[in-house]
Amino acid sequence: MDVVIMGGGLVGASLAACLARDPNLTIAVVEKFVPPQADDPSAPLHPSYDARNTALSNGTCHVFDQLGLWQSMREYAVPIQTIDITNQGSFGRAVIRAEEERVRALGYVIENRYMGKFLMAHLQQCPNVQLLAPAEIGGLHYEGDEIVASVEIDGRWDMIKTPLVVIADGAQSQGRELLGIGADVTGYDQVAIVTAVTPDCPHNNLALERFTSTGPLAVLPQTDNRWGLTWCLDQVRADELMAADDESFMRALEQAAGSTIGNLTKVGKRFTYPLALTLAKEQVRPNVVVLGNAAHGLHPVAGQGLNMAMRDVAVLVQTLFEAKANGISWGDFKLLHGYLQQREQDQFNTIQFSDKLTKLFSNRNPLLSLARNSGLLLFDTLQGTKRFVARHAMGRSVSTTLPEVVA
Ligand SMILES: Cc1cc2nc3c(=O)[nH]c(=O)nc-3n(C[C@H](O)[C@H](O)[C@H](O)COP(=O)(O)OP(=O)(O)OC[C@H]3O[C@@H](n4cnc5c(N)ncnc54)[C@H](O)[C@@H]3O)c2cc1C
Repeated sequence: MDVVIMGGGLVGASLAACLARDPNLTIAVVEKFVPPQADDPSAPLHPSYDARNTALSNGTCHVFDQLGLWQSMREYAVPIQTIDITNQGSFGRAVIRAEEERVRALGYVIENRYMGKFLMAHLQQCPNVQLLAPAEIGGLHYEGDEIVASVEIDGRWDMIKTPLVVIADGAQSQGRELLGIGADVTGYDQVAIVTAVTPDCPHNNLALERFTSTGPLAVLPQTDNRWGLTWCLDQVRADELMAADDESFMRALEQAAGSTIGNLTKVGKRFTYPLALTLAKEQVRPNVVVLGNAAHGLHPVAGQGLNMAMRDVAVLVQTLFEAKANGISWGDFKLLHGYLQQREQDQFNTIQFSDKLTKLFSNRNPLLSLARNSGLLLFDTLQGTKRFVARHAMGRSVSTTLPEVVA
């Protein structure tokens, strides 16, 4: 097997699909949960392909397009024409418009379950991908210059030997544990409430990023004129809002989000997600790459977790295809370290930005809150957010063009 990918979530499945473009490669994806049933609302939620809605940068859409998946996903995706960044309780505002940036859209919003539906259906049709699900890796050990993964499927064990194991099993990664790779985890004392709400006015493809004293709030345009909500709050307030009836929840949201959101008439099922910054202490080892949330799980404030991971995927695929053309083993540490070096700067900038922005708008320290409400800091923050979002949303920061397949 050329590669074993532990975790078939958004990142692991996307990597598998990118590599599968070369028909000479063999790829195993070991996923703990059964593939999602996007069309069956009563089916249990899959950990990756769940109720969340994700703002995809144009760079991420470009990856899906090269995989031939974007045309199908696009039917369930809504283009973002305008991003309105505001701070609750002040007049400061930064607006990004697609036409001013000379792009068709500033990105697209899609529900995770639809990405899962198309990614999984695609992998199931790739003859060179073995999708092992539900299955688990119980051990990883070195044998010569390769790694052997012990995989449990239906109560029986299989040994798969490979030069490269990619750990992509999410922030609470068992893969990291199996390899003894530690992680720094910093809690934000916040959870995100995720749901969809329907306004009484057209959403006009507008996305709202609003900073409030209790945490940031992202409102994204969705299909059927719904807003997709990611509302980050401390646990106590989140518990109150989760327990509130629909009417009270919608009125509280209208108050926090401001008048642009309109009068809300309907709210969907609510879910919560704990928020933390999780950074793996190592992203590469001989024969190992740690990817996606297993490598870096971010606060969703800047909508960058998946988008940044997809930039990692594009560079990793480029690195591996070049190595194959040059007869270099995929387990070669120098090769994998070279991949990481190419990604370090973008990862650092993105992680720092997301983390600082979250802390600035979450800390209850009175001095910080004074500074936060002062015009200058607000202006800097809104303009900084605008520059960052514009650059990353449109996928201009790092190329996500996949390499040509040389048969
Ligand atoms: C509320 C919220 C909103 C977000 N919004 C955005 C956004 O707008 N834009 C953006 O770019 N990012 C966003 N993100 C981040 C994005 O969701 C993550 O970056 C993305 O899900 C990471 O994918 P992943 O495949 O690395 O991990 P996961 O999605 O966690 O998937 C891990 C996969 O591994 C499987 N698995 C787990 N354990 C094992 C095991 N032992 N063996 C085998 N398989 C296993 C799981 O079943 C799952 O399929 C958001 C996150 C949150 C919480």
